[in-house]
Amino acid sequence: MLAIAGAPMGVRLKALDPTERAPASIAATQVVGSFRDKAAVKAFAETCDVVTVEIEHIDVEALRELSAAGVDVQPTPETLATIQDKYAQKVHFTNAGVPLGPYADCPNEAALQSAASEFGFPLMLKSKRLAYDGRGNAVAKTAADLADAVAKLGGFEQGLYCEKWVPFEKELAVMVVRAKNGETRAYPVVETVHENNICDTTTTPAPIPNKVAEAVQAAAKRAIGSFTGAGIFGVELFLLKDGSILLNECAPRPHNSGHYTIEGCACSQYENHLRAILGWPLGDTSLKVGGAVMKNILGDGDGDEAMGRAHRLMGAALATPGASIHWYEKPDMKLARKMGHLTVVGPSAAVATERLDTLLRAASGDKT
Ligand code: ADP
Ligand code: MG
Repeated sequence: MLAIAGAPMGVRLKALDPTERAPASIAATQVVGSFRDKAAVKAFAETCDVVTVEIEHIDVEALRELSAAGVDVQPTPETLATIQDKYAQKVHFTNAGVPLGPYADCPNEAALQSAASEFGFPLMLKSKRLAYDGRGNAVAKTAADLADAVAKLGGFEQGLYCEKWVPFEKELAVMVVRAKNGETRAYPVVETVHENNICDTTTTPAPIPNKVAEAVQAAAKRAIGSFTGAGIFGVELFLLKDGSILLNECAPRPHNSGHYTIEGCACSQYENHLRAILGWPLGDTSLKVGGAVMKNILGDGDGDEAMGRAHRLMGAALATPGASIHWYEKPDMKLARKMGHLTVVGPSAAVATERLDTLLRAASGDKT
């Protein structure tokens, strides 16, 4: 999607990806290799003007060496290193004055017990590293679940921390683009709905008071402004019953909650990422439609039947006003894998939601 956004601006992308004919190869020139392999990353970078990432679980050491050798790496390896470790991220945001829920490092049993007695239950235990789509989280409902939660995440030696449970009313997200000179621009605020810890739908603008949306954008800009380097960042937040907000986590790359920007905003998250890392003027982040909803196409099984359901969903989208399809060409259909997404725009978020509901009913064969 970065390469597709770059094409009309005359920006050509090369992608380092371990899988032959990876999705990126549709629009970018692919070099087959691992982004966790230092030698591969360095050899790849030698052929580029600017190096960026679209996954944070990369070899930061390699990027540090490149950067020291004069290669332009955006955002900076320091920023990527901080964000890559969710606990380091929390500490960084505390120092930057960003509102967060209580959290504690859990290097061992004693630290976990003391955090549990301070925060109570349910308690959210998280892996510091390599987490995505809920795969680094374990909830302990009572003290009796703590040992299982630690075991599920691979033990204390993996690097664990915990968070006090946040009884949120809604989950919100906002994309922020940061220029090399530190300028930040926020996109509209999105409501995200997760199923089994995986983003299912997003709605923009989020159905929240303007004051709350402004506070979310201010907190997100403060958070991303505190880093170094350029690029697009996804910021996830919790909205509490009393209208206050807490930051959950951020990602240093285009984000699922920003997919709607392709059809919904004047300048998409992808175009703005390229503008930012190239040192070009940032693009207009405002909505160019009344409202936009995005639905992920998740694998709901393996094999042909699941593929048939995904195809019906896209067929229904093609027959829906305001709907666009994005199919990622991932090699196999797998349970819970993000295979693509749909975006439906309209004169308002309510109309876009209605159109999506009609589309989903049509795809499931329900004529009512
Ligand atoms: P991931 O990297 O998998 O996105 P997150 O830390 O964002 O991990 O957690 C995934 C989901 O788990 C969140 O979107 C939210 O629904 C829930 N969650 C995370 N932290 C908390 C918390 N402290 N209290 C309650 N729910 C949480
Ligand atoms: Mg998350």
